[in-house]
Amino acid sequence: MMRAVEDRAVFGAGEVVVTQDAVHEEHELRQRVMDRLTRAVSANGGVISREELSAFDLGGGSTRRLVDAYGAGIWNPKDLKATLSIVSSPDGPYDDREIDGGLFRYDYRVGSTQGQNTKLRRAMELDLPIVLLRKIAPGVFVPVFPVYVVEDDREAHQFVIALDESLRFLRDPLHPTTDERRYAERITKQRLHQPEFRGRVIRAYSTRCAVCRLAHGELLDAAHIVDDSDADLGQPVVSNGLSLCTLHHRAYDRGFLGITPDYEVRIDSALLDEVDGPMLRHGLQEMHGQRLGLPARRVDRPDRDRLAWRWARFGAASA
Ligand SMILES: [Zn+2]
Repeated sequence: MMRAVEDRAVFGAGEVVVTQDAVHEEHELRQRVMDRLTRAVSANGGVISREELSAFDLGGGSTRRLVDAYGAGIWNPKDLKATLSIVSSPDGPYDDREIDGGLFRYDYRVGSTQGQNTKLRRAMELDLPIVLLRKIAPGVFVPVFPVYVVEDDREAHQFVIALDESLRFLRDPLHPTTDERRYAERITKQRLHQPEFRGRVIRAYSTRCAVCRLAHGELLDAAHIVDDSDADLGQPVVSNGLSLCTLHHRAYDRGFLGITPDYEVRIDSALLDEVDGPMLRHGLQEMHGQRLGLPARRVDRPDRDRLAWRWARFGAASA
């Protein structure tokens, strides 16, 4: 582990000597990468492409590669002391092989305990944040950041990754208590599953609102048709989602806007009778009777059974 000495100190990270200045510099660079990533991902509706990651724009005319060029999971830029990003490829929205006790586990690069794993271990020793890239389609990722390597499980050949600042300080990440486990599971849902659902849904709708076609990723949400508290129908699958702008999402959730199982938008009858400014008129009343915008892929379209379940509730509320 790292050993802080005095000013201008040296850290013993494996056999490599790293000065405090160098660590500070890497923190700043990573902060800059993550700030820019936040903006880029938001504009894209929660995802980023391999192409963008290959020459990621850091502003001021500079770019940096954020993913390995040859498809390796661990990206170790030559000029950095530690790993910058890791890729994980869940097979689908239910694939939780990587989660154990609420904590994310990342396999060593096959072949040795050293090699590319060394720099990932160093990220742990130097407390440097990294980016987790969750692959949701070929060449499409939902980035999760900052994440931290908190434990090296040499026996299992796995690193334990904290998906959130708050999970960095567990006393024993290899043996979480029941409470810690429950907490970690909640964080996993917030940090992995919800952003993945959002990324998959908004992407399926080509980054547009299904009601009004607004095309700004920053203003789009992935709405559930059946709430995720419903064990039968509430799964985080694209066919249980709708890409909606924040206005239409809220209107849908508050019962001002309904969607029939035949993909038609309806507005609450009382709201239709109101007289007010352009937002009410254009944003809501004129949506009445519009066809819902649908994903190109049939498999991504909203499930009619789920729409019917939800529509029955809208009908009851606005009757
Ligand atoms: Zn909209």
